[in-house]
Amino acid sequence: MKVVVDYFKDIFGGIKTLITGMKVTGKYFVSPGEIVTQQYPENRETLQMFDRFKGEVIMPHNDKNEHKCTGCGICEMNCPNGSIEIISKWEIVDEKKKKAIDKHIYHLSMCTFCGLCVKTCPSKALAFGQEFEHSVFDRSQLTKILNKPNSVVTKDLKE
Ligand code: SF4
Ligand code: SF4
Repeated sequence: MKVVVDYFKDIFGGIKTLITGMKVTGKYFVSPGEIVTQQYPENRETLQMFDRFKGEVIMPHNDKNEHKCTGCGICEMNCPNGSIEIISKWEIVDEKKKKAIDKHIYHLSMCTFCGLCVKTCPSKALAFGQEFEHSVFDRSQLTKILNKPNSVVTKDLKE
């Protein structure tokens, strides 16, 4: 007998939760209020992701093509899955030999967006960008060099 009671109890429980869910759906169906869904990809031109969105790791440059990366390698050491490779070079600055970034290589295909590189960079050279359309036919396109061609480290940082 108990088995039969439990059986019908489960059925009524299921119907009750279904009605609870449908009440929310129904409320938005008849009176949408604030519309939170967006017509993607039709809204590509105007689409703005929220500030904390982690689309990809980027290296911001200023209008003089300067960035803040010193090539210290801390992000490479802290990345838990080897998504970053730092290739550094030596530069002569004021007749002194100084280490500088040659290529900051970022493998987006391996990145888990944990944020450790961004958080631990001592010069705040990295950030998260908002780009999220990363589908490509050739995965080598997901390997990016974050420092732009001919860019240099900002002077403010060196001094
Ligand atoms: S991005 Fe930051 S942590 Fe990484 S090499 Fe450049 S300065 Fe160092
Ligand atoms: S976000 Fe995390 S996984 Fe991605 S590159 Fe930075 S440290 Fe590596």
